[in-house]
Amino acid sequence: GATIGILGGGQLGRMLSVAASRLGFVTHIYEPGANPPAGQVADRVTTAGYDDAEALTAFAASVDVITYEFENIPTAALDILESQLPIRPGREALRISQDRLTEKNFLQGLGLTTAPFADITDQASLNAALADIGAPAILKTRRFGYDGKGQARIKTPDDAPQALADMAGAPALLEGFISFSHEVSVIAARGLQGDVACYDPGENVHTDGILATTTVPAKLSASQRMDAVLLAARILTELDYVGVLGVELFVTPQGLVVNEIAPRVHNSGHWTQNGCSVDQFEQHIRAVVGWPLGDGQRHSDVVMENLIGADMDRLPDLAKEVDCAIHLYGKADTKPGRKMGHVNRIVRNKA
Ligand code: ATP
Ligand code: MG
Ligand code: MG
Repeated sequence: GATIGILGGGQLGRMLSVAASRLGFVTHIYEPGANPPAGQVADRVTTAGYDDAEALTAFAASVDVITYEFENIPTAALDILESQLPIRPGREALRISQDRLTEKNFLQGLGLTTAPFADITDQASLNAALADIGAPAILKTRRFGYDGKGQARIKTPDDAPQALADMAGAPALLEGFISFSHEVSVIAARGLQGDVACYDPGENVHTDGILATTTVPAKLSASQRMDAVLLAARILTELDYVGVLGVELFVTPQGLVVNEIAPRVHNSGHWTQNGCSVDQFEQHIRAVVGWPLGDGQRHSDVVMENLIGADMDRLPDLAKEVDCAIHLYGKADTKPGRKMGHVNRIVRNKA
């Protein structure tokens, strides 16, 4: 079969590799860190940095298509890879999702609702933005933030200097605080021919900034559900996207507010592994190699729970549970806040 190159060797790269293998493809992981979780299941691993032009060139020469499991791939590395092979999803999706300011402008340009926001460069721009947007608000680094890292809550304007100090000089964005009833996400996919398939939205609960659980179906009215799916499809089409995309949404009485997008398989889509015939990982592989997409139909309701840090101590009990599918990432060391695995609890409809 063809060889699929995957940039990034974390758990998402691992689960993409497993899905690719199941379809008969060969996988080659590119990852700077030693002993990546994906390395245990991929056919081949290159351990090299994104500044290693020689390694990047050799990697591209060894594969038929390139995809990725994270959005922060340096531009210079992308230039080298793209001169040899297509990268899917494409550069535009990466450019937009690498920077929260660019992303917010893109979403607003599509007519979608986001939190009010302002670019922050110093204390004066922060004071001005706070006067405009109001407190409470959240200051976020424009780049590289994940799991709530690089964020500072501003409850009152008095918190502003400390919040700015927390950014450590990194370019930042102020966001007005959205008073949402709950959070949902849509995992959507677009194929090489422009076909689109969406999974049913999941309802997400975060603990300490990290996703704790995703429940499907989410609490949404029929029209909210339709809105969520349609807005995801608009984003995909606008970006001429190929692959799986995650769209995080806040549910408010005034409608859906887009929080952020992720141009890749997404933690809140892990439930599809046990809720759908074609899960998000297979869906992504299908898209990037030009196969027809799975239809996104759900055969079971699912509650996904992330296993973070010491949650791994519960493994003996989890293994005794009925209808509880365990997915572990093969990470050697358990650290607080580290995603070690997840479980999908299948909710059987009682007769
Ligand atoms: P991820 O791991 O999902 O990439 P992240 O670090 O990019 O996370 P966000 O998704 O921006 O961070 O924020 C993390 C969480 O903080 C959100 O899921 C939400 O619960 C809360 N949050 C973020 N922005 C806002 C906002 N403007 N108003 C209210 N809550 C917010
Ligand atoms: Mg994010
Ligand atoms: Mg998020």
